[in-house]
Amino acid sequence: MSNFFVAIDGPAGSGKSSVSKAVARLLGFGYLDTGAAYRALAWMVQNNDGLTPEVLASDPSQLKTFEANYRINTDAENYSVMFGSENITDAIREPKIAEAVSLVARVPQVREFMLQLTRSLARDCQKPGIIVEGRDITTVVLADAQVRILLTAAETVRLKRRSNELGQISADAMARQISERDASDAKVVDFMTPAFGVVLVDSSDLNFDQTVSAVLEVIEQQFKRETND
Ligand code: C5P
Repeated sequence: MSNFFVAIDGPAGSGKSSVSKAVARLLGFGYLDTGAAYRALAWMVQNNDGLTPEVLASDPSQLKTFEANYRINTDAENYSVMFGSENITDAIREPKIAEAVSLVARVPQVREFMLQLTRSLARDCQKPGIIVEGRDITTVVLADAQVRILLTAAETVRLKRRSNELGQISADAMARQISERDASDAKVVDFMTPAFGVVLVDSSDLNFDQTVSAVLEVIEQQFKRETND
C-alpha cells in the first residue's frame, strides 16, 4: 500500500509523463499515468459500434465493463496498458485517440469514475511512494497528496517537444491538435495556474535532466518538511 503521493499535473507537451517516469525510477516509486485510462476509454468507444460519450454518461454498465478490463502497470520499469488480453500501450498513443479523448474526458460521470479508479490504483501500489500524473490530479483527485507540482512550459516549447516526439505528424497538424486539446481540456480543468499549495515548476528553459532535478528537489524539500514536523 502506497501512502506517499506525489501529484504532478500540467498541459499537453509539458513533459509530465517522461519526467514523472524518470523521477519514479530514481526514487524507486511507482508511476501512474492517469491519462492512459482516459485514452483507453476513448479506445473502447472507438472499438465498439454504438458506444459514444453520451452512452457512457447514461449507461453505468459501460464503465463497469471498462473497469473489469482495464489494467495499468504502476511499475515505472514495466509501463504497460492492457484491455482484457489486448496490449493497448501503443494503440492509445495514436493521433485518432488524442482527437477523441477530450470528448470522453468531458463527461461528468466519466470524471467521477476516473477519480475513484485513480485513487484506488494509487493506494494499491506496492512501492514506498507513487508519482501520479495527470490533469486534475493536484487539485481534485489527490488534492491531499504530500507533494503537488504543476509542471508547465511555454506553448512554443511544448509544441516543439511534442512534434519531436511524434515525427510522423506535420508541425502544423501537431500545433493545431495540442492547442485544440488544451482549449478543450481547459473547459473542464484549469491546469495552467497552480492552486494554493501547489509548487510551480516551469521547464521552458530547462532541459530534461534539469527538469527531473527540479522536480526531485521539490519532493526532497517536502519530504524533509514532513519528517521534521
Ligand atoms: O496526459 P494525456 O495527454 O495522456 O491525457 C489524455 C487526455 O485525458 C487529456 O487530454 C485529458 O482530456 C484527459 N485527462 C484528464 N484528466 C487526467 C488525465 C487525463 O481529463 N487526470
